[in-house]
Amino acid sequence: MASSYRLSKSRFTAGLQCHKLLWWRVHEPDAPELVVGAAQQAIFDQGTRVGEVARTYVPGGELVDLPHDAFAGRISMTLELLARQARAIYEASFFAGDIYAAVDILERDGDRHHLIEVKSSTKLKAEHLPDVAIQLHVLRSIGIDVSRVELMHLNRGCAYPNLEDLFVREDVTADAEALQADLPELIVGQLRMLAGGLPDVPIGDHCGKPYECPFLGRCWRDVPEHHVSTLYRVRNGGDDLIARGFETIAELPSGGLSPVQDRQRLAVQTGRLIVEPGLARALRAFEEPLAFLDFETVGLAIPVWDGCHPYDQVPVQFSCDRQVPDGTIAHHEWIADGPGDPRPELARALVAACRGARTVVAYNAGFERGCIERLADAVPQLADDLLDIAARLADPLPVVREHVYHPDFHGSFSLKAVLPALVPGPGYEELEVAEGATASLALDRLMFRGDAMTADERQRLRDALLRYCALDTMSMVRLLERLRELA
Ligand code: SF4
Repeated sequence: MASSYRLSKSRFTAGLQCHKLLWWRVHEPDAPELVVGAAQQAIFDQGTRVGEVARTYVPGGELVDLPHDAFAGRISMTLELLARQARAIYEASFFAGDIYAAVDILERDGDRHHLIEVKSSTKLKAEHLPDVAIQLHVLRSIGIDVSRVELMHLNRGCAYPNLEDLFVREDVTADAEALQADLPELIVGQLRMLAGGLPDVPIGDHCGKPYECPFLGRCWRDVPEHHVSTLYRVRNGGDDLIARGFETIAELPSGGLSPVQDRQRLAVQTGRLIVEPGLARALRAFEEPLAFLDFETVGLAIPVWDGCHPYDQVPVQFSCDRQVPDGTIAHHEWIADGPGDPRPELARALVAACRGARTVVAYNAGFERGCIERLADAVPQLADDLLDIAARLADPLPVVREHVYHPDFHGSFSLKAVLPALVPGPGYEELEVAEGATASLALDRLMFRGDAMTADERQRLRDALLRYCALDTMSMVRLLERLRELA
């Protein structure tokens, strides 16, 4: 079928998620929603870095080293490399049947080829399969014989400095083959849809799966507050409830809900804060003197410090507010500077900051516990002190979840959802760094690309990070005070 529209593997997979999403991507390529933000760019950059390193694990190949949009040049260079029987071609580019596909690594296997798709994830995911299947379809269409299809992803078991097994190459030939029969109809369906007007697609669970759609703001604009999709841990994003005719949580009957969901329903229906009787008992675990602890971490795809695995969350900053005998709070903080291993120094500062606290309060403490346990492995001379801190951790999150619900939580028990509802006052709105993922990116930049910044820029970013992390611990202080009032 000749069409005036072209698909690529990313367009095709977007179309599998939602036709409307694909239509907007193709017909409104300059839409503000499609402008790549800093966080997304960082993910893309990381993917690029992983892709470049992956090539060194399939060595001896040649790169189709032309701009991404130089389609004709890329295709003719690929054909040239194929004719020369290159051992491997990185970014091999093809066009067939209205579809353009760039293959991360095309490895020669005698007269045949291995098609290798590189992913910066640590495991094979269902959404990777259509991606490789469409590449196989394109290669077959132009007569390239593929003997094996592989997904090459990072290996969580690999530990620095031994990066020999940094990647796992999984054979997904059978999965890619199994999808081939459906592809022609899916492709024709997408091309036909693109030739028409904006398709009518209802919102649903697919808006966030497998990827968060950039057009949520358009399609979800008129969704009422307390929509069923905001029910705590709702199945299928609320699609089942919508299919049964419910639009908001206020309409739900009490049967069939978990205790937390039912508390949410009651809070929404009455418009009131609900506090369960067991709150005072649950708060007894927070024995004074208290220390309030929060880490910020970096999770590097390719580890650079001893013993670290891909994406290990390594604490590189902390804030700690500790009650001192005169009843006031002493603030401690630490932040890494430069690319060296920050763990020994951070561990020493952490042990000093928590000394004297009977309870160390951390919101969603499982994260802090994991960080501290990995720190104990990395800094064995402080392992006893660190594990002692881990043993003193107490977490307000489950206490809130099991005993308190305010309609403004909107189904979330994150500190950023709970705090403004329970303790109104100045929050994160004014901060330059205002949530964990941004902090992680900023820390990555400060530590590994700080040389490219001016001294002023570095200082400003460092100050912003310190303010953000300090606000997290001070928020916990205010939250615990409020919970005690409610109890
Ligand atoms: S928000 Fe949902 S319905 Fe709208 S384009 Fe995105 S995926 Fe499709």
